[in-house]
Amino acid sequence: MPKKYLKNTQKGGEVSLKGICKRCNKEKYLWTDGKCSQCHTEEKQEKIKTDFDEFYEEAEEDEEFDTSSTEFVICPHCGYAIPTDLGYEDFPEIYEEGEHELDCPECEKKLILETQISYFYETRKEW
Ligand SMILES: [Zn+2]
Ligand SMILES: [Zn+2]
Repeated sequence: MPKKYLKNTQKGGEVSLKGICKRCNKEKYLWTDGKCSQCHTEEKQEKIKTDFDEFYEEAEEDEEFDTSSTEFVICPHCGYAIPTDLGYEDFPEIYEEGEHELDCPECEKKLILETQISYFYETRKEW
């Protein structure tokens, strides 16, 4: 049977194939490196957590980890990266500009989330 290429529209339209993910061993649509998008997210979350822990091992008392991100809400207490693709109903704070108070799902401490939304427009004369 010929291999079917399917467009994975979730992550920037990258072409991907269904197969067994190298990391979680589940049958999923895979990125070109053989891992599913969930594993990509988890690897990024682990990387942020590692960076966070390493930062505070070396940091002076008044230094703070840079939690600005376009992909995750990063807890300033524990470095847990909350995915931001959960949808409006579960997570309205990330769709509304301004400051919001949240509880970190990992360490349960309060954090202030500042959401900044930017729009981009481009026009042209004809198709
Ligand atoms: Zn996976
Ligand atoms: Zn936390």
